[in-house]
Amino acid sequence: SACASSPKVCIVGGGPAGFYTAQHLLKARSDLVVDIYERLPVPFGLVRFGVAPDHPEVKNVINTFTQTARHERCSFYGNVSVGTDVSVEELKKAYHAVVLSYGAEGNRSMGVSGEKLAGVFSARDFVGWYNGLPSKKELHPDLSCETAVVLGQGNVALDVARILLSPWDFLKKTDITQQALESLGASRVRRVLIVGRRGPLQIACTIKEVREMINLPETKADMLPGEFEGIAEALKDLPRPRKRLTELLLKTLKVDEGQQMVDKQWGFRFLRSPVEVLPDADGKKVTGVRFSINTLEGSGEEARALPTGQTQDIECGLLISSIGYKSLLIDPSVPFDPRTSTVPNEMGRVSDTSGLYCSGWVKRGPTGVIATTMNDSFETAQILLKDLDSGTLDPSVDKAGAQEITILLKTRAISVPVCSPTRILRLQKLRQQTNS
Ligand code: FAD
Repeated sequence: SACASSPKVCIVGGGPAGFYTAQHLLKARSDLVVDIYERLPVPFGLVRFGVAPDHPEVKNVINTFTQTARHERCSFYGNVSVGTDVSVEELKKAYHAVVLSYGAEGNRSMGVSGEKLAGVFSARDFVGWYNGLPSKKELHPDLSCETAVVLGQGNVALDVARILLSPWDFLKKTDITQQALESLGASRVRRVLIVGRRGPLQIACTIKEVREMINLPETKADMLPGEFEGIAEALKDLPRPRKRLTELLLKTLKVDEGQQMVDKQWGFRFLRSPVEVLPDADGKKVTGVRFSINTLEGSGEEARALPTGQTQDIECGLLISSIGYKSLLIDPSVPFDPRTSTVPNEMGRVSDTSGLYCSGWVKRGPTGVIATTMNDSFETAQILLKDLDSGTLDPSVDKAGAQEITILLKTRAISVPVCSPTRILRLQKLRQQTNS
């Protein structure tokens, strides 16, 4: 359908950043062709394998992405790991422009001993497990313990805590995997502590997620009032979203204890950094975490946690580390800043190289909701279009696009399912129906 001189753009990664970038490009120019290459056999990235199963409204963006994937000038190639199966240089040769939208596939590690013990998981793996990420299907987390510790206090940490404590009848109605549903049905986890290195004024989650914790049926908030000293006094100087969040936290301290029969608990614990994951007698399984007790230097969002030299042990049989994702270098020819783990760029134009762009988490770092990712992807598309208009990118140079790349992949014996998003949606609906 595309003529020889149509600009051909290749996108690496089929998550929100990839799809929003594609959407904007296709809409702006009627001659432009977009090919999306994705490592997994199926599209949508963290919308599929990150966003919690009890947040179906968030997953609605899949409908928009599906429309883009169906667009006559857009193709989706699954099972292509860029950097391994095909290099960025090869893509640059075959396309007028390459957009890196490959997200943040790595983890920040705790960097303490015992991190590899049984019962210790990264949030990425745990979330991948309950969302059906193919490589995490066999994670088999042991949920026979009473207390779980989640390290980190962002929205992902709260997703994990909420899934661990949600009533089974409720999870059953979501599109959580059957395997996870069965494990959670037999779970004996009754208490989830969400531990952060800084104080109540620095937690990184949003009010909606805290409210969801508070509203969990048959579950009470278990906070330590001592950790909130001075917080009420600080309220008046806080910016509005932070103020509302803090007010909500203070309210959870006042819940009437004898009010209801509850058997489950969740709570924040503050000013604690892990220094060691404690093993059982056999040295195989986690039995707890040794934390350094911190004090804050400075105040507000910039406050820093400093160890006091004191430590405290918290017992747990399950430890999930949710201290952040990070982007990886997928190809040595791509500029990469190891300090921030992002691709250095200006508004999405990769620094010191032409024809290369980036969007999403690999551009900004692994923070922000889908709407943030949408805005920065539109910005990248805008810059790319500008470069086409100004002649920085020259579409009159003939590029072979997917034709060239599929031949390359074929010689390397990589089979590329061009998957139909319609089929994915149908499978998803089916799963939902089977669960409920
Ligand atoms: P990703 O979504 O990670 O997409 C990157 C894609 O690139 C993936 O499909 C990946 O497989 C692919 N890829 C990686 N390496 C390669 C390679 N070498 N070659 C080819 N392809 C590759 N936001 C909300 O608004 N609401 C929520 O409720 C919410 N919940 C979240 C829960 C979790 C656990 C997480 C981690 C995030 C959540 N977010 C949520 C944030 C949201 O998911 C991100 O803002 C968004 O997904 C970032 O988009 P992205 O395209 O940059 O990255």
